[in-house]
Amino acid sequence: MLNRRTFLKTSAASLPLAAAIQTFNPATISADPIAGAAISGTDPKLIPLPARLTPVDPSTLPWQQNIRRVGQSNMTEHDPAVMNIEEWADYWHSAGADIVFISVTGILAFYPSKVQFHRHGKFLNGRDFFGECVAAARKRGMRVVARMSPDLNWGDALDAHPEWAMRDAQGSVLLSPEDSRLFRTCMFTSYMDGYVPAIMREINSLYDVDCFYTNGWPPIGSLPNCHCAICSKLPPPNTTAYWRAFNDRILELWHKYDAIAKERKPDSFYFANLGGNVRCGPNLDRLGRTAVWFQADNQGRTSDDPAVWGCSLQGRVCSAMMDGKFAANVSAAYSTGTVRWRNASKNPAEARMWLNETLASGMALYYHFIGSEAGFGEDRRWQKLGSDYFQWAKKHDAHLTPRRSLANIGVVMGQSTQLLYPTPVAAHAHDYMRETTQGIYATLLNGRFAFDFVHEDRLDLERISKYRALLLPNIAMLSDRQCQQIRDYVSSGGSIMASFETGLYDENLQRREEFALSDLLGIRKAGDVIGTNGNAYYGRIERSHPILDGFSNTNWLPGAQNRVPVKSVPDPVLTVVPGFVQYPPELAYPLASHTDEPAVVLRDVGSSRLAYFPGDIERTFWLTGHGDLLRLLHNTIRWITQDEAVVHVDGDGFLELFAWETTPGYAIHLLNYTNPNAHHGWLSTVNPLGPQTVCMTLPSGVKVSAVDLLRSDRTTPFRLEGSVLRFTIPRVDDYEIAAVTVG
Ligand SMILES: [Zn+2]
Repeated sequence: MLNRRTFLKTSAASLPLAAAIQTFNPATISADPIAGAAISGTDPKLIPLPARLTPVDPSTLPWQQNIRRVGQSNMTEHDPAVMNIEEWADYWHSAGADIVFISVTGILAFYPSKVQFHRHGKFLNGRDFFGECVAAARKRGMRVVARMSPDLNWGDALDAHPEWAMRDAQGSVLLSPEDSRLFRTCMFTSYMDGYVPAIMREINSLYDVDCFYTNGWPPIGSLPNCHCAICSKLPPPNTTAYWRAFNDRILELWHKYDAIAKERKPDSFYFANLGGNVRCGPNLDRLGRTAVWFQADNQGRTSDDPAVWGCSLQGRVCSAMMDGKFAANVSAAYSTGTVRWRNASKNPAEARMWLNETLASGMALYYHFIGSEAGFGEDRRWQKLGSDYFQWAKKHDAHLTPRRSLANIGVVMGQSTQLLYPTPVAAHAHDYMRETTQGIYATLLNGRFAFDFVHEDRLDLERISKYRALLLPNIAMLSDRQCQQIRDYVSSGGSIMASFETGLYDENLQRREEFALSDLLGIRKAGDVIGTNGNAYYGRIERSHPILDGFSNTNWLPGAQNRVPVKSVPDPVLTVVPGFVQYPPELAYPLASHTDEPAVVLRDVGSSRLAYFPGDIERTFWLTGHGDLLRLLHNTIRWITQDEAVVHVDGDGFLELFAWETTPGYAIHLLNYTNPNAHHGWLSTVNPLGPQTVCMTLPSGVKVSAVDLLRSDRTTPFRLEGSVLRFTIPRVDDYEIAAVTVG
């Protein structure tokens, strides 16, 4: 593994980028500065990539590691009456699906189940629909996932087992909000210990399936709130103690189901519905050690997460959790969103981008439609898009299967803070931490930084030493141990950017009197959170500093919506000009135009650089889009990383960047989000980008035989001078991958 010291030792030898570009075919390089002018200052210093990993023989891997394409026609009660099984199987087989989902379910049996309360669908008529589908898939060489759904059941089951139901605080049964004939089952009851295993064992006794999956459980994005007899004895909902009990139960059931899956075949396994990106319900560190298949139920944009990058954000979470084990993102071909049409295709440009993001972020393709009315769907427009995409990807599996990320920035994702942190009252926020995540994410995208997510429970030095800097965007909950790990990281040469209430709570959500990283960051708390009453606070420029590059003709910069006041520091760069009312304008002026309260605290310790913003600056950028905040964050990230980069992509446009080491070489993925619908709605058009120049420094002695552009299906010339590789991607439509083959 490349450690910090290696980075530092080698950085001095890297070429300044400007000098490098001048030697490369100038006719194909845009002379324009980077769009948006968000990045300023000098060009980054390219850091050599780490020595290449030793090759792995795919045949030695667990079978699911070689799955690249997953198909699912989600089966309805009506499908046994209407679905053409041969047409269904032919479609997924010809598309190149390696595995298909077939419904067993638990809500409705798709086979003649004898398990009590496993109600047969009303169109089943004694037929073995599941078995026929399994046979059709097997005949074509496709693997099979047995899909179950343990989250709902019917009134007769409730009458016999009232203890199976989730209940509200008044003791009433919680029903499906859409169909009141169904009640919601509680995960702590014998429903999960008895009913679900009975179905699994029945399937194992009758069929040859490759693995088992449960839809609808565990909950994603939030924690359950149940008041049944069992749950009433658990710690209160939305507490750290409840979260532990919730995670213990998930892992207990996960292990139990996995053992049942293996009763028939040792290489079978169990996996469950996951997703929710950084707000995933189950603890990602614990589950990541257990799960061998991450099923990201992240099918399209939502009203809460309306930005186009929702899929790649999920992919970064999967990378942080799975350490190279299998992850797939369920991409809906049907119409997702606030208003849904489960049986109608979505905009092709949007559907394609979700698949693009799946691959770019390192996950396996998974395409999903619901219902097969009229044989194989009344609306069949989704089918060609999916099969074309699958078949294209199949030609490039080696380049599209990442081995490791090359990113040099780690963003701590703070899962417990995401789920449990009490939003500052002053913020009046619907979803405070979601906005914080989007703020740092959009900041990094705009700056074309290569970054990974890092889980708060995975801050061991061996894991994080590859990063030049760690970003902690309001990671409020940190244990003493996690704080010590961060100190160790800084001692080894790493840098930090933190904001707002980072470290003001421990892992049990107990509020600390002082910042846990007070010593490291050089900050002392001076009071409680101050919000905004009309006009937010400013930062007054006190002296020049690299984090202020590009600002001129102003004494003030915008601050943030909320801040923790901190005590004065020597020689501050920015000081707080407190907020005031925004109306009436007669009163819109500062009562105190000059204070000694810092608006940023910077430290320079050896090769480490530390930056702390007392304001919730990332989230405020997301709320406002203010370019000053973006510039300030970009300058600060560049300052703490000492302008080091592993890959530099220069050109116009707003895009997301991924850089991977692959078995054949390297893959640079560019997702083009330069689109009026990048932040809302769906993509309906593609707005191509012009040339993008790529520079990276390869490990010593590594040669390059080709650079292929996989989406446009062409090669591009390259130049390797010493170890510095340079090439130009002439055009990016919605997506391009520059696949570098070494050797
Ligand atoms: Zn319960």
